Amino acid sequence: MVYYENLAEMYVGDDVSPDFYGWVFPKCDHVAVGTGTVTHKNDIKKFQLATRNRAKDKILGGKIIRVEAHPIPEHPRPRRLSGRVALVGDAAGYVTKCSGEGIYFAAKSGRMCAEAIVEGSQNGKKMVDEGDLRKYLEKWDKKYWPTYKVLDVLQKVFYRSNPAREAFVEMCADEYVQKMTFDSYLYKTVAPGNPLEDLKLAVNTIGSLVRANALRKEMEKLNV
Ligand SMILES: Cc1cc2nc3c(=O)[nH]c(=O)nc-3n(C[C@H](O)[C@H](O)[C@H](O)COP(=O)(O)OP(=O)(O)OC[C@H]3O[C@@H](n4cnc5c(N)ncnc54)[C@H](O)[C@@H]3O)c2cc1C
Repeated sequence: MVYYENLAEMYVGDDVSPDFYGWVFPKCDHVAVGTGTVTHKNDIKKFQLATRNRAKDKILGGKIIRVEAHPIPEHPRPRRLSGRVALVGDAAGYVTKCSGEGIYFAAKSGRMCAEAIVEGSQNGKKMVDEGDLRKYLEKWDKKYWPTYKVLDVLQKVFYRSNPAREAFVEMCADEYVQKMTFDSYLYKTVAPGNPLEDLKLAVNTIGSLVRANALRKEMEKLNV
């Protein structure tokens, strides 16, 4: 614990996760040692063991207080409202695909829900009901639904294999892609694009995917 007092560690490599990373995160009086994967869920135990091995020397003598595993809540839950209960943050499934970003969306949804409560209760003068809370969900979906949808498609296309990830890296050399990505991260919504540049991007995307796939086949032949 002393070693990790002011330190978090991330490990990359196929041993800890083929598509994510392993981590040691300090919590207030213990550390969380973990890993994640989307593509190889059945191998999660193997990755957990490898992550513990990577941190072995630094957590030596520590006591395991809990072993747990959870899916990343990156699908907005089909039901986020019941009576006077509304879900926000991870509980509502607001982690975004591709980036795995959930802190902003947890804070933002908490704020939006609180604002709906303040408004619906007329500043605390009356009890809120489901209809008041629904306003938060309507506002949320209107603002973020397209972002979740676009990131879902991006993840399906580019995160499914190493060649697809290579294609994504290749595309990131393009300044337009860099700007769109940067703005989308900064403003937390899909940045509006330029139709001509978008068309060019679509053609380049297909080109990158085809090239990456051809490269994969060559690598398989060479058994690399
Ligand atoms: C490995 C990893 C890396 C991540 N990296 C990033 C990143 O780089 N950027 C980013 O934006 N997001 C990241 N996230 C996601 C981010 O951590 C979450 O989306 C965010 O913390 C969600 O906030 P939350 O308040 O909804 O939930 P939480 O942070 O989980 O807070 C819920 C709290 O409720 C407490 N609780 C649970 N049950 C009870 C109960 N019955 N009574 C009282 N308290 C209870 C829990 O102990 C917890 O403290 C990462 C997540 C993981 C696992």
